[in-house]
Amino acid sequence: MRQAIQSGAGRAMRLGALFPVLVASAMYAEAVAAQMQAASPLAGAAAAEAWFGVPLPPGLTPHVLEVIAERGAAPAVVPRGEEQYGELAGARIMADLETIVGFSRESRTSREVGEGLLWGRITGLPSGTRTVEWAAAELRRAGIPGVEAQRFGQAEGASLALPLSWEVRLLADPAFGAGSRDVVLESAMPLTATSLPEAGLTAPVVYVGTASAAELTHIDVRGKVAVQKASPQGHTVFIRDPVGPRAEDLLERGAIAVLTIVDLPGNLRVRDMGCGGGICFNLGGRDGLFLERVMGESAALGRPDGVRVSLRLESERFSGLSAQNAVAVIPGTSRADEYVVINAHADAWFDGAGDNGDGLAVMVALARHFARPEMRQERSLVFVASAGHHSTGLSGPGSFVAMNPDIMRGAVLVVNLEHTAQRHITPARSEHADGHREWTMDAHEAPIVAGITNRAPLLEGLVRRGIERYGTNFVSGPNTMASGEGGSYVRAGAPVFTAMQGPPMYHTTGEVLEMVSAPGLERMARFMAFFVREVSAAPASEIDP
Ligand SMILES: [Zn+2]
Repeated sequence: MRQAIQSGAGRAMRLGALFPVLVASAMYAEAVAAQMQAASPLAGAAAAEAWFGVPLPPGLTPHVLEVIAERGAAPAVVPRGEEQYGELAGARIMADLETIVGFSRESRTSREVGEGLLWGRITGLPSGTRTVEWAAAELRRAGIPGVEAQRFGQAEGASLALPLSWEVRLLADPAFGAGSRDVVLESAMPLTATSLPEAGLTAPVVYVGTASAAELTHIDVRGKVAVQKASPQGHTVFIRDPVGPRAEDLLERGAIAVLTIVDLPGNLRVRDMGCGGGICFNLGGRDGLFLERVMGESAALGRPDGVRVSLRLESERFSGLSAQNAVAVIPGTSRADEYVVINAHADAWFDGAGDNGDGLAVMVALARHFARPEMRQERSLVFVASAGHHSTGLSGPGSFVAMNPDIMRGAVLVVNLEHTAQRHITPARSEHADGHREWTMDAHEAPIVAGITNRAPLLEGLVRRGIERYGTNFVSGPNTMASGEGGSYVRAGAPVFTAMQGPPMYHTTGEVLEMVSAPGLERMARFMAFFVREVSAAPASEIDP
């Protein structure tokens, strides 16, 4: 099998190298292919095997991430005098994270959304409710009196659009080799929640590279499904621009749909980067590799439009939903009408171990820490397990702000824990047997941005001390970022401190438990306990100068 791939790839490369421009001309390419076939003893061998002898993609394995992770995580630093805080230990927080991820897994096995291709802790659906109710129960169990699950309804006229069922199917053709059968690309993830007619949509695919204007000058995408490629170098959101706008541009140029290969480890579903109202799907790395190879082989045979795809998509809009935030207040000892709000969103797509299972687990650990009688602070502390920001018309922070005017009036700072303890992964030196690049995990967490909306020197100083004291992997560039979750608090006039990672597994099926570092959870929890203690004792004029 691998022999056949190599000979096939070699042939395609020779073609490309010899005739870099003319390959675009179907007639010429056909003539060249015929010549190659006559000249090479290997010619014809590849096409005799199904799909040119290219190995079929592996399908999608839920809850698994294919990354080299043989060496463990760097241990947490425990400064002298903090040894007794067992509630902040990594293993303790990890146990909670397993519970939180369990709500997502249940969402998949119960097929909460359509055929179970999309799952998560979805605000407005039972998985979201279970997660927030679990958080409320843990806050109560920590000994905090008066914990509330504050319920609210979906905004008038708003609806949550979710894809229920879909398929991206590559259609077999006898010319691809004997025994070629249709291949369903299991990593496909729709980015728009529209529905196609029942018959679906079938068209040839056309490869457009990164879909820059320079590339598209030579490519006619009209009536075809355009295939663009994105290679995230960090957070997938960092490539929303240009990937999203370029998908929209392809649709404007007449493409009937866009497939975006997101080149990440394994074969992951990626729920990120839209294309306006058109039809677009993301594909994982392995499906992308297969598609690229068979398109190359077909082009080399003089059939640049030979690969055709059939798309199916069914979606639904949900309205009239409700959700809740879990809210716990630990009254301050001397300035009880001044508040430090500690927020973590409970909602997630897929397993969501890092977005935001880790942030939520750390928030619960902090509540246990500050619920200890000897850890009471001068200011009141408010812990919010927020319904989050994924479900249209059900804003967790927006509802908290609206439903708790007294707290917001007295809020000296909002701390938002959002993606806090994922390990860092990068492309590895090595490749898999099929040529797909491996990825590897290192000993530390992915870089953490510390967003300080008011740039207060006191808060900046605490971030610096956190690096020295706990080894927290904060990035160097100062930042006023407050994220989607923090936006409602900023609009309410409160200064916001956000701890946020941007790892490549963001909103993918690969963001699994194994991505999260137990020592990293402890590092963040210990840093945050320190940060909150310091803030709680600081003059208001220094917290928000
Ligand atoms: Zn998030």
